[in-house]
Amino acid sequence: MNKTIKIAIDGPGGAGKSTVAKAVAVRLGIDYIDTGAMYRALGLKMLRLDIPMEDTPQLRQLLRETEIDFRGKDILLDGENVTELIRTPQVSMAASACSAFPVVRETMVKAQQKMGADKSVIMDGRDICEVVFPDAEFKFFITADAEERARRRCKELQEKGNDAVYEQVLAEIKERDHNDATRAASPMRKAEDAELIDTTAMTIDETVEYICGKVRAKNL
Ligand code: C5P
Repeated sequence: MNKTIKIAIDGPGGAGKSTVAKAVAVRLGIDYIDTGAMYRALGLKMLRLDIPMEDTPQLRQLLRETEIDFRGKDILLDGENVTELIRTPQVSMAASACSAFPVVRETMVKAQQKMGADKSVIMDGRDICEVVFPDAEFKFFITADAEERARRRCKELQEKGNDAVYEQVLAEIKERDHNDATRAASPMRKAEDAELIDTTAMTIDETVEYICGKVRAKNL
């Protein structure tokens, strides 16, 4: 690759976006930015400080005082490594709730655009194709049936030693899909110019290969 490129990936939780994006980044030798982790870090801080999930002056102050950075594969919240702490169901719901506020989205989008400026990146989230990088050279919407996503999430949680009840995980996935798709500010939806990839019956490797093939084919 001679020129810098942006690969934008949107889609619902549990569709395999981040696993796929990480692997594509390694194959192509570019940076990966997990935007969901940023909303999760903020959600974690709000839970810890018991800040109400409302757009209040307190929330605006919190946004000004909060530093979210990546260090390699880790995410730092005000310097603390919270990579593992942000992966709980409670933090998932807090991320979904706080991401509905326009002031939160504006702050995060600005930070994401800055992180991706002047270099090749693959970024995944809910609004990357339409808001963060509308001029991205490659845009994909990765999804899978809610039931399949719940099965994958359960397996992932169980592998990390957490108890996971399938019905509960499925209910949370559906609730989060609903919140993300119906919020007024940047609702999750497939951008018109994004390619839909349904991974219900695809392996991670197949999805990675498919995206890398598309990028190589353009020969940028
Ligand atoms: O992708 P992940 O499941 O980690 O995202 C957590 C939550 O953060 C999502 O449910 C969504 O509400 C929010 N999010 C968002 N915009 C993004 C990335 C994540 O609103 N670009």
